[in-house]
Amino acid sequence: MTDAALADRLAAVRAGIGDAVRDAGRDPSDVTTIVVTKFHPAALVRELFGLGVRTVGENRHQEAKAKASELADLDLQWHFIGQLQSKKARQVLGYARVIHSLDRDSLVDALSGSDDPPVDCFIQLNLTEDLGRGGVRDDDFERLAERVIATSGLRLLGVMAVAPLDEEPRRAFARVRAVSDRLTRLSPESTFISAGMSADYREAVVEGATHLRIGSAITGNRPTPG
Ligand SMILES: *Cc1c(COP(=O)(O)O)cnc(C)c1O
Repeated sequence: MTDAALADRLAAVRAGIGDAVRDAGRDPSDVTTIVVTKFHPAALVRELFGLGVRTVGENRHQEAKAKASELADLDLQWHFIGQLQSKKARQVLGYARVIHSLDRDSLVDALSGSDDPPVDCFIQLNLTEDLGRGGVRDDDFERLAERVIATSGLRLLGVMAVAPLDEEPRRAFARVRAVSDRLTRLSPESTFISAGMSADYREAVVEGATHLRIGSAITGNRPTPG
């Protein structure tokens, strides 16, 4: 059961990322691609595995948990990229290696003490004025970062963001890069940047993204959420 179109899209995106990384004068080994498989069935993730994909991203806990357990025979690394309720946070650690959406104290506290191994995480930055969006405000970033750094069991990789629809992606990612620079002054190892999706990964690469989260350009259109 191979889908030639899936293989073609994956190859096209891999080539596009390769070009963007080369054009930016960066090292390909510094950029990780997370294939976002939300709303797609486990069978599609299995096909992606067959095409060499090892790193996948999901944004809803119940769905991610079910897929990870169905695909437990595959050596996949699951990244959690969606908004997360504090009371579900620890359950995500049952399958996810990395959490990209740390954005408030209650979540930090809920994940604390997971020392073996520590949880790799990004703090999500909200680039919009809409407080209902995931992410911490720019002016609260350092405060939350200090809390994460002081919390045992969390390893802060860096900053994560989604570009707003009404801003040039390059400009938005330049703002993310500036926050990343501020963060590395507090925490020199937290150098990673999770940014860039199907429509804007090239701009993200130019602005230093190290973790691209790419869904539909590889998977095709998502089925409607159920
Ligand atoms: C869905 C999603 C993506 C992938 O989006 P595409 O436009 O399909 O590439 C990336 N990041 C987050 C947080 C998402 O929810």
